[in-house]
Amino acid sequence: LAKEQGGGHVEVYAAHMHAQVVERLELQTELRQALADRAFVLEYQPVVSLETSQVTAVEALVRWRRGDGVLVPPEEFIGPAEDSGLIVPLGQWILREACQKVAVWRATTGLDIGLSVNVSARQVLSQGFVQSVEEVLAESGLAAEALTVEVDEEILLENPVVAAERLTRLRGLGVRLAVDDFGMGHASLSHLRRLRVDAIKIDPSFVRELDSDDTVTLLTRTIIRLGQDLGVQVVAEGIEHPWQLRRLKEMGCAYGQGFLVGRPMDAAGVEALVGGEANATVR
Ligand code: C2E
Ligand code: MG
Ligand code: MG
Ligand code: MG
Repeated sequence: LAKEQGGGHVEVYAAHMHAQVVERLELQTELRQALADRAFVLEYQPVVSLETSQVTAVEALVRWRRGDGVLVPPEEFIGPAEDSGLIVPLGQWILREACQKVAVWRATTGLDIGLSVNVSARQVLSQGFVQSVEEVLAESGLAAEALTVEVDEEILLENPVVAAERLTRLRGLGVRLAVDDFGMGHASLSHLRRLRVDAIKIDPSFVRELDSDDTVTLLTRTIIRLGQDLGVQVVAEGIEHPWQLRRLKEMGCAYGQGFLVGRPMDAAGVEALVGGEANATVR
């Protein structure tokens, strides 16, 4: 009897696993179709100088506009897109779309607005990545110095030699490199030793707990100091409350992002923001 029951459990479990696999495959098919249908859209979140409140750059953030009109957040599809390899053509589209837009905004406003684009490890490790960035810059006319590529700390875990080589070549083009979600990885400091970067982005989990936790405050101050000592830009992410902004400024953090200082917005929103020129700045 026990054996029968056990077998039953295995079956239920297997059926559950099967359903998950099918769901994942269906999602990957939908994503492939979405890319063909041009159903991905970009939003842009301002990066501001905490000193002057002026916009220095925008970070491109991808969304999937599903058939029913719902905007699906990246957390729900970037993973599957990475697993299926679709992240390579999707990432290529994101880069091209964002570079074209920002190149136009820079030309029409005369403002030195930077662009940050997130890239996945899988993308960086794919064949011809550096060359494809070079091509997009040439096509769009965006200055390499205006582009920052954001990578997660984990990028150096899987294939450290190739990843570091690619990213170093990318920097050789003049493109800036940022470490996203800094402080959350297993080896934040050793990554900085392996790879020259231009910016570090403090993870929102630090900003959230600035008030309540002395250790978090100490660590945040240390990251900011580290950035200053290394000559690296420090961007605090996830600023939602005026007290967080105040604390970060006091600690000498130069740049920030968050719902308080600017929500992700569509391209028309950015045009209204920088076209009004009141808010943006020439660096
Ligand atoms: P990330 O690069 O760290 O981007 C910041 C995320 O925090 C964005 O979520 C943004 O909307 C959100 N955020 C900004 N300010 C606040 C705030 O004040 N409070 C809170 N609670 N959240 C804030 P989003 O757009 O859902 O993106 C999530 C992640 O998905 C990104 O994290 C990035 O890792 C990934 N992602 C987004 N776009 C792309 C892309 O084009 N390519 C790749 N490979 N990954 C992307
Ligand atoms: Mg990012
Ligand atoms: Mg990230
Ligand atoms: Mg982040």
